[in-house]
Amino acid sequence: MSLQEPARPGPFADAGTVVVVEDDPHIAELVDLYLRRDGFRVLLAADGGRGMELVAHHHPCLVLLDVGLPAGPDGFEVCRQLHGQGVPVIMLTARDEEVDRVLGLELGADDYVTKPFSPRELVARVHAVLRRSTQAPGPQRRTLQAGDVEVDTARHEVRRAGTPVALTAREFDLLAHLAANPGLVLTRRQLLDEVWGAGWVGDERTVDVHVRQLRKKLGDGLPLATVRNVGYRLG
Ligand code: CA
Repeated sequence: MSLQEPARPGPFADAGTVVVVEDDPHIAELVDLYLRRDGFRVLLAADGGRGMELVAHHHPCLVLLDVGLPAGPDGFEVCRQLHGQGVPVIMLTARDEEVDRVLGLELGADDYVTKPFSPRELVARVHAVLRRSTQAPGPQRRTLQAGDVEVDTARHEVRRAGTPVALTAREFDLLAHLAANPGLVLTRRQLLDEVWGAGWVGDERTVDVHVRQLRKKLGDGLPLATVRNVGYRLG
């Protein structure tokens, strides 16, 4: 007699979170239905700004991204921003010229699917991209290193010289974003757009407040430089 039931596939499996950025409600609904049936948790966004917000807050395992979005940044811009964060992206494109741009711009998309598509095929592509991304050499995708600070994006943990450090969700997102862009100077505005979300209304000093907290909690182990009158650079 076995006390352990075998893991159940299908609707009971916890396959991970997928953010779907799509302004066409019919397509969004269809994709939502099929992904949920396969055990994914699905978060829907109708525009790029909201999509970035969901990614920053929920750390999905994958993003499905429509190229033609009505408001805010289009799919290309969102993809470019997500690329630095190590989230696999599948682009949904409506026209051949969009495919050309996806392929030509080196946006960092992991795959693309042209509309109209079969939901089954889309779900198969999702699984294929996830398989590839989990097989890919993990460290740079899952663990980001800056000085003696380690950001484990899969486990949502930060360690300093091996010791876990407790951060708020926003501090974590900010640190993860800086660590995903090593050596780049990021302006306060960029950080607000990319960590807080493009729709966020507020003062750029919010960034400074969070940086101060990060420095306090992580100390000298964090190679985070202030670039005067511009922003911040990690590593
Ligand atoms: Ca669209």
